[in-house]
Amino acid sequence: MAEYEAMDPWLIGVPAGIALGLAGVTAYGAVHPRAQLFGHTITATEQARKLAITFDDGPNPAITPKLLGLLDRHKAKATFFLVGKYVRQSPELAKEILVRGHVVGNHTETHPNLFFCGPEETRTELLRCSEAIGQATWEEPRWFRPPFGFRSPWVGSIALTYRMRTVMWSLIPGDWRPKPAEWLIERMKPIAERAQGLPAKGKGRSIAGASHGDILCLHDGDYGKPNADRERTLKALEYWLPRWSDLGLEFVTIGQSLGKAVEG
Ligand SMILES: [Zn+2]
Repeated sequence: MAEYEAMDPWLIGVPAGIALGLAGVTAYGAVHPRAQLFGHTITATEQARKLAITFDDGPNPAITPKLLGLLDRHKAKATFFLVGKYVRQSPELAKEILVRGHVVGNHTETHPNLFFCGPEETRTELLRCSEAIGQATWEEPRWFRPPFGFRSPWVGSIALTYRMRTVMWSLIPGDWRPKPAEWLIERMKPIAERAQGLPAKGKGRSIAGASHGDILCLHDGDYGKPNADRERTLKALEYWLPRWSDLGLEFVTIGQSLGKAVEG
């Protein structure tokens, strides 16, 4: 866990040789959020004003209920990529996420680094998580996010065989790092900066480079320990949600963000 917090998320668990450029193409395809090498991947919403907030590694009884309340207060819908083992521990909470109008996705059963998992193990990880979600919520997840963002050559197609599309992100501010909330608030600033640069609603076409909206990756849980403290994530959202609304951003789930899919 300490290792995960200290390291750049792109490099977690990648052997030094790969991280340093040996088989560089493979490493790029596995870890870069926009890399399309290993299958179709969703990395942005289809309109600049649509912001998809996503949470990984829950459900977390210590944080998720407070987070659901916060999202309700700001009429924000989000997408939660759940870890199967935690869904089994808190099935009611997984169900509650859906009842409140959010979307749940698959984030594997045990949160392994799929870069090192063969096809069989990958299949089992995805299937068991979907089973846990299905038992808790009576819904089958349609979206998949690989732990640590690592993909292997087969993970995208395995997800597709379970009728799930792979979702990465455009912004991952690093809310797992033991830093003050102010640090996290600052790291989330690019969303507001992009929104400020947009033309007024209904006026002209989107400016260059702003034709898509952000998919923000935050964490309401910790894959390494249950009941993790994610108060700083809540604080940062308390700060930004009203400001994002004032800037005209619309909070969408991954499903809502894909009128026209943004993918490779
Ligand atoms: Zn995760």
